[in-house]
Amino acid sequence: MSATDQFDVVVVGGGPAGYTVALRCAERGMSTAVVERDAVGGTCLNVGCIPSKAVIHAADKFHRLAEPTHIGAMGISVGPPSVDLAATMRWKDGVVAELRDGVAGLLDRGGIDVRRGDAEIIDARTVRVAAADGNDTVSARHLVLAPGSRPVELSNLPFGDRVLSSTGLLEVGEVPIDLAVVGGGYIGLELGTAMAKLGSNVTVVEAEDRVLPAFDTALVRPVARRLTDLGIDVRTATRAVELGDGNLVVEDRDGARSEVSADQVVVAVGRRPATDGMGLARLGLDMDGAAIAVDGSCRTSVHGVFAIGDVTGEPMLAHRAYAQAELVADVLAGEERTWDHLAVPAVCFTDPEICAVGMSPDDVDEGTRRDRLVIGQASYRANGRSKIVGAEDGMVRVVADRTNGAVLGVQAVGPEASELAAAASLAVELGSTLDDLAATIIAHPTLAETFADAVAAAIGRRDSASR
Ligand code: FAD
Ligand code: NAD
Repeated sequence: MSATDQFDVVVVGGGPAGYTVALRCAERGMSTAVVERDAVGGTCLNVGCIPSKAVIHAADKFHRLAEPTHIGAMGISVGPPSVDLAATMRWKDGVVAELRDGVAGLLDRGGIDVRRGDAEIIDARTVRVAAADGNDTVSARHLVLAPGSRPVELSNLPFGDRVLSSTGLLEVGEVPIDLAVVGGGYIGLELGTAMAKLGSNVTVVEAEDRVLPAFDTALVRPVARRLTDLGIDVRTATRAVELGDGNLVVEDRDGARSEVSADQVVVAVGRRPATDGMGLARLGLDMDGAAIAVDGSCRTSVHGVFAIGDVTGEPMLAHRAYAQAELVADVLAGEERTWDHLAVPAVCFTDPEICAVGMSPDDVDEGTRRDRLVIGQASYRANGRSKIVGAEDGMVRVVADRTNGAVLGVQAVGPEASELAAAASLAVELGSTLDDLAATIIAHPTLAETFADAVAAAIGRRDSASR
């Protein structure tokens, strides 16, 4: 290996953003290197999306056996179930390893030079790679920054022994007896629910007036009901103050303090773009708050330097990172492309799941645009398949333009709502109208029929309004 190797493209970070842009650039004949300090696959594959969903899935399977109302009604009985969390984690690690090997294989077959080490930006064309076995330097015509994000740490609850990030929680060998979850957002509720299903006494401490403040109230209501059913103690408008011996001191908005039992605490109060410690200041990039500012083609303020994924700020989601990566590869291949997606789907793997695509009624300024919308809603209670699977709490909502019926948004909370995200995104992205959707035959009996019911409700309202 020479001291300085020259490439068309050097990518910093081998997560969903970094490995995708590298693969697409290599496919188009560009010589490409990826600098990754840890494992390819990044946060999503190694410590995020995949392992968290594996644990959520296992916890749900266990809980269905432990709470036998539904299977009992079907005439099925089993002995008292037990869970060996260490074995669950080994299974989860196996799923992760298989997928990570898959990504590594793709990079290898794509002829991408993966350099293991810490990237330090020297200038817009040069990156130093510091590895255990020495340093080397790579240079390129184009630099793509994809270093991702890191969990926000609270100064009064620094990560350590009993205070875990999501990564730490996904590695515990035993189910915590009393688990305090600070932050009732995506991670807090997804993993808090999983731990409650595995047997932890879970308390969620959320600073805002309600959990999942990023989603509208109607979507969160069934999730809040289920948290109560699962015995999860939800403290809203409350913040963590300090960790005591076996408890967490919390304070509500009126200044009243109380204690929450906690042998372990997980802090999930958001993630911050990973812009520090890599010499980025040398580039003098324009910033957008804590994130690297980019234009519609993911170009930064410095010529030849692009940024994609979590480092560019919200929404910090893997599928948005993939889409930015595809876009940048097209731009580097000489195509004129800008971000023109109408919606980035958001899915929360709570119980029940939430899916939100495009415009929600809450996005509209009351009194100005609301009258231009038609909203159709249907409950899963009327759906045959929901009754069979024993999960009826929830609804699907369709938001459309009243004048031409164009579908602007679809939201759902209910059984397997994550799987509705594809149809919802297609409807919005393809500019479908309510009539297009009504003319589509949906297989019976499926959960997706509730989507069709919501469309029918919207059409009924639209007709009655126009009469
Ligand atoms: P990352 O995946 O963070 O990858 C960045 C990579 O860059 C890392 O591998 C890092 O080691 C490397 N790196 C950083 N700095 C340097 C440097 N100086 N030198 C060398 N290498 C460097 N999103 C979803 O869409 N769906 C989900 O279900 C979901 N679940 C999640 C669950 C959890 C618990 C967490 C924490 C996140 C979850 N996310 C989910 C978010 C998702 O993981 C991120 O949006 C996604 O990983 C962003 O991809 P990225 O490539 O921008 O960054
Ligand atoms: P989040 O932004 O989803 O939730 C953080 C929550 O913590 C918010 O509700 C916020 O009000 C609350 N909070 C902030 N400071 C607090 C404090 N001091 N005390 C109590 N509560 C406080 O962040 P997250 O759950 O850490 O997840 C990080 C990001 O990872 C998400 O925003 C998302 O982009 C991504 N993620 C996505 C998925 C998914 O797509 N299913 C799953 C997990 C994570």
